[in-house]
Amino acid sequence: MQRRVFLKGAAAAGAASTAAAGLAAPAIAQGRLEWRMVTTWPKNFPGLGTGAELLAQYITRASEGRLTIKVFGGGELVPPFEALDAVSSGTVEMGHGSPYYWKGKIPAVQFLTTFPFGLLPGEQNAWYQFGDGQKLADDIYKQMGCKFFPSGNSGTQMGGWFNKEINTLEDFKGLKMRIPGLGGEVIRAAGGNVVNLPGAEIPTALQSGAIDAVEWVGPYNDLAFGLYKSAKYYYWPGWHEPGSTLDNFINLAAWEKLPADLKAIVEQANTAVNQVVLSEFNARNGSSLQILLKDHNVQLRRFPDGVLQGLGKLSGEVLNDLAGKDPLSRTLMNSLLKFRVEQMPWTALGESGFAQARALPYPFAQPTPG
Ligand code: CA
Repeated sequence: MQRRVFLKGAAAAGAASTAAAGLAAPAIAQGRLEWRMVTTWPKNFPGLGTGAELLAQYITRASEGRLTIKVFGGGELVPPFEALDAVSSGTVEMGHGSPYYWKGKIPAVQFLTTFPFGLLPGEQNAWYQFGDGQKLADDIYKQMGCKFFPSGNSGTQMGGWFNKEINTLEDFKGLKMRIPGLGGEVIRAAGGNVVNLPGAEIPTALQSGAIDAVEWVGPYNDLAFGLYKSAKYYYWPGWHEPGSTLDNFINLAAWEKLPADLKAIVEQANTAVNQVVLSEFNARNGSSLQILLKDHNVQLRRFPDGVLQGLGKLSGEVLNDLAGKDPLSRTLMNSLLKFRVEQMPWTALGESGFAQARALPYPFAQPTPG
């Protein structure tokens, strides 16, 4: 609403100055770009679709409407998983989704979302900003005719919704589960029957029994889809997606034509959105978990250590297998694994060490009413 008012004002001001200066109106129109952004998310879906919307607003406002972005939900212009094709072919200029959705184009791209037993959100952002992440991602997206920006992080995810308990690795055998990316490869290696569905199709697929189990995101997004209505157990932790990066991909030719100031605006809008989306997930996951537990009596289950260790071993095999077949996957994996090795001892002392200390039983101050 604000944006519309603002743009109207800008247009009026533009018209007035045109008249005053005696310039032709098309000269001004030529300086203004209108881009379309297709997304893999349902329109305005919490955290994901709203993140894409926020990105569009930031760019439009910061550029004073010189680069105006209009957002389309998955399926509005093109089906969700055709978003990248629409951008690389130049049908539209911009897209928002997550790198692992494009593994059919370039298998290595999966590593840019996350990998099983991989990096926490803060570590992942550190790899993008201070490791090789941005450069490696740019190289890969260039091959798909796009410029890449990290554009949100889901935070650590949950292990998924199941209608039977998972007590051993054998329990995945024959299980029809929606789980994308490398996590899906691991479940396939465990004998599961893996399907990849866009978000919007998940609730119906689980409810109808077309799939037995599903992982989506975490409490905030899973509550929004009402997944608790169709599954008995909510498993943790999300071993397969410890901190999933979302992507903003831009048609390379359109990107290269942008003047330097608009490029900087797009870059900084993504930096902001990358952080805001993670903050939103952190804030809403906490409150949504309480709603799931208290209002919907969801039964939490932790994957037993034996299952996690089995999944960890299979994950290593899946990664090695991919790296053995595909040099680009090997390059990405080596960079990420090196970063992981450096981060793990520090995170164990720092963030994890503190979280364990904080959870010890001791009397502590409580929020007071009012
Ligand atoms: Ca997920």
